[in-house]
Amino acid sequence: MKTKLSKCVHCGIEKTKIKNVEKILSFNNNTALVKVDAEVCDHCGERFYEPETIHYFERIKKELKNKESKQLIPVGITFKVA
Ligand SMILES: [Zn+2]
Repeated sequence: MKTKLSKCVHCGIEKTKIKNVEKILSFNNNTALVKVDAEVCDHCGERFYEPETIHYFERIKKELKNKESKQLIPVGITFKVA
């Protein structure tokens, strides 16, 4: 990540760290798990993403919608509790 926030936008405390996090993206009933770098607030847990990361999420969501990507590997079934 190129940028680093001086403080958390959410709680205003200067405790953000860059971490590799898992993010769940979903489109309709399809879900994709992606690993990205995010700036995470140690205090409130709020995550901040780079604009490129947001674009990446959008691309994955589009691929979920079209189900045409070779990048998407099924890893199990997501269940809903009735
Ligand atoms: Zn915070």
